[in-house]
Amino acid sequence: MFLPVNVWSEHAACKGSLHIFYGEDNYQPQIKKIRVRKAKSICFVCPVLKECRDYARNNAEFGIWGGEDEEERYLAGSPMPPYATASVARRLRNIRKKETV
Ligand code: SF4
Repeated sequence: MFLPVNVWSEHAACKGSLHIFYGEDNYQPQIKKIRVRKAKSICFVCPVLKECRDYARNNAEFGIWGGEDEEERYLAGSPMPPYATASVARRLRNIRKKETV
């Protein structure tokens, strides 16, 4: 059974630091790497990690949710993110194909 987002998000460890979870830094790989690592470290001590991860996987969310990024969610079976560009979609499909061979 899934709890509504407004119930579990009350206990989110990321409250007040959401800027770490969504970045405009894709063109700066080193900065993105640091930001993502920091976000995931918050997730891994969050009391609602499982609820958050399940929600994001079911909704193909953008950003770091439940300790996962878009690629990790897709590889876990999440639908293709609706915002994925053609090149991102192709890259994700190729990764999933390699994972299943
Ligand atoms: S698991 Fe991460 S993204 Fe989800 S609510 Fe907790 S801290 Fe926020």
